Amino acid sequence: MIIPRAFTVGPRRFEIKHVQALDRPPAFGRLDITNNTIKLAAKSIFEQRYPLKQRRETFWHEALHACLHDMGMPFEKHDEDFINALSKRITQICCTAEV
Ligand SMILES: [Zn+2]
Repeated sequence: MIIPRAFTVGPRRFEIKHVQALDRPPAFGRLDITNNTIKLAAKSIFEQRYPLKQRRETFWHEALHACLHDMGMPFEKHDEDFINALSKRITQICCTAEV
């Protein structure tokens, strides 16, 4: 599975930015809905490099936040456990898809 450079959900085109690390608060990734950007961290604030699988799951995690926002769900109602579980499964589907 290749993490895309950009994708569109509803009227918004999101760009994916790869950054070294995310802090305040520490995170694997971050959706910036104002700037239509998803940032993906390469490593933790403690310099621990994230494996590709983690970055793929984080991509889907943030993309699902973008989907739910597009569907009209306020961010405070997004269920992080549900999004984590679903992002792992979508990543698995994408990484095992046979064409
Ligand atoms: Zn989240």
